[in-house]
Amino acid sequence: MTVLYFLIPLLILALIVLYHAFDRSEKLEEESASYLTGLRLMVRGERQRAIHAFQEEITRDTENIDAYIKLGTLYRECGEAGRASRIHNELTLRRELTRGQQLEIWEELAQDYLAQGDTDSALNWLRRLLAEDRHNNEARRRYLHLLEVRGQWGEAFEVLKKMAEIEGVSHDSHLALIRTEEARRHFASGEGKKGRVLCKEAIKLDKCCTPAYLLIGQSYVEENRSAEGVEFWERLTNEVPQDAHLVLEDLELELFKTGNFSKVETIYRNLIELAPNQSAPYLALGRFHEKKGEFQHAIDICRAGLAKTDNNIWLVRLELRLLGRLGQTEQILTRTQEVIESLFSTSRVFSCESCKAESELPLWYCPRCHTWSSYQTSTPPMATASRG
Ligand SMILES: [Zn+2]
Repeated sequence: MTVLYFLIPLLILALIVLYHAFDRSEKLEEESASYLTGLRLMVRGERQRAIHAFQEEITRDTENIDAYIKLGTLYRECGEAGRASRIHNELTLRRELTRGQQLEIWEELAQDYLAQGDTDSALNWLRRLLAEDRHNNEARRRYLHLLEVRGQWGEAFEVLKKMAEIEGVSHDSHLALIRTEEARRHFASGEGKKGRVLCKEAIKLDKCCTPAYLLIGQSYVEENRSAEGVEFWERLTNEVPQDAHLVLEDLELELFKTGNFSKVETIYRNLIELAPNQSAPYLALGRFHEKKGEFQHAIDICRAGLAKTDNNIWLVRLELRLLGRLGQTEQILTRTQEVIESLFSTSRVFSCESCKAESELPLWYCPRCHTWSSYQTSTPPMATASRG
């Protein structure tokens, strides 16, 4: 009998414990049901309904951190970034966060503040995130972008260098461009020497960094160190012949000042060899001979260029002007007719305004980007002859 006295209360106690355990697990299941519903709605892009599901979830379980995180994200996506940052900020005060949750919250906060236009705070959260999660290059990319937008070139350079290190990929040409933007700022505030050091570093990183050559040359010329400036511009014509047209006029001007005419011609001839399909060197060389009064020679250069550049319209203009100078009106007429005819003899091409795909037939459904009525068909297409 005495055994029963012990057993009955023990049994009751066991039942109570079991009941509560069962109740708890049922409750948990219910909770995760509304959480899962929220996730599903979120994936489907039904934000308002997802918000309701997560709100339901957090009133049931105030410990469901992930539900709070998602709720904040949804508010931000619905244009309520202030509300999002308040929710995410409150979460940072919680003690029971896992490392993963903590990092996620910081990342969300950066986006919340960015959406509010508060780049200072966004940068701070990203900085904190990266200090803790050093391999998060997705966040690092956003961080870099923000620094670039704000013109914080020095820090941007270091961040990109770190990114290249982690990815094991070269970002040298981008790094070089960042250096030139930094240099541009020094030049603007009269610190020529500092700017040139940065430009030289940029060229070391990427010998095809056009803006570095342009800026450094300009800076030397402005400080009356023409020879050094010309040296960098000349290097540009060798390293990046396709960009040489950006500098030819200034280069010629500087060389003319010092009477160095033969060098001008050497540079142009060299460029024609390096990039025979570019119109700029022919044009420059033609004008050079025009200045020297050697009209027939200039015309020959134009014609050589026209053959290589698909009747470049600038070369045509120069040729006609030169013929005028020689008084050859008959030839002007013939050449004008020839050029006009050549412009129209090429096949007509319709192009898609959306993806730039080209077609000889008029189309109403683009086979490449699948857009309707994106081809300009109401007016006859321009011929595509005058490129270069
Ligand atoms: Zn298209």
